[in-house]
Amino acid sequence: MAKGPTAGVTTGQKDHFLLVLLLVFLLVVPLAAFIFWYFPSVGLVNIHPALPWIAGVVIGSIALFLVLGTGLLFLTLLSGRDLFLSDCMRRVVIKYFFPAILGAGRLLRLNTERLQHSFISLNNQLVEAADMKVPAEKILVLLPHCLQMSDCPVKITEDVHRCRRCGKCDIMELLGLHDEKGVDLAVVTGGTLARKILKEKRPELIIAVACERDLISGICDAWPLPVLGLLNERPHGPCFNTGVRVEAVKELLEKHIQV
Ligand code: SF4
Repeated sequence: MAKGPTAGVTTGQKDHFLLVLLLVFLLVVPLAAFIFWYFPSVGLVNIHPALPWIAGVVIGSIALFLVLGTGLLFLTLLSGRDLFLSDCMRRVVIKYFFPAILGAGRLLRLNTERLQHSFISLNNQLVEAADMKVPAEKILVLLPHCLQMSDCPVKITEDVHRCRRCGKCDIMELLGLHDEKGVDLAVVTGGTLARKILKEKRPELIIAVACERDLISGICDAWPLPVLGLLNERPHGPCFNTGVRVEAVKELLEKHIQV
């Protein structure tokens, strides 16, 4: 199928925007912690001389935790290696870091789509850092139904193998990957069906293809399952006759299938 401009593939690449963002965060946290401690402590000392010290220890500990966590995240992304805690960090990133960065990004009027790309890239790099090797049948390639040609009469959301492999959309080539590699394949219409399929199939690694918004909610919903996200291609606009770089899916499979 004809490809339009790619929305970006976000695996195995260093995201410099994200690294800069993390560096800024590393600089801002100690400064913010000092400001949060210094001004209230002027009043606190009038209540009790020990209170500024107690506040200092509490605020300092939180700031130290944030700085160490962010520093470790920064080094993991820079080196591409699992520095002991990539799984734990993925949780922190998914649950706290990304919502905080997105909120700060809105305040600073940063490009939301750019931040979403960075989050997907960050998640992918943390999953990649763990260098997982998984049996092929335990890998699930999760696809959005907008990959299917809009005028295709076959209902593939219940069973992707009903596809007649006419070649009008990327589903045919992806089925070829299923044949060649032995990985599982599923097409979903949204988060509810995706969650149901994850419950049934219990994969160990998910390669998900979707737009930014669906990928992010999928990555968060699937936690603690590791998800490698690939953005779909949208030459006709969102949710309509979309595509995917099948070669990128293949590369990921080859990297992570246990031989
Ligand atoms: S490749 Fe399969 S899913 Fe795509 S249009 Fe043809 S029959 Fe339909």
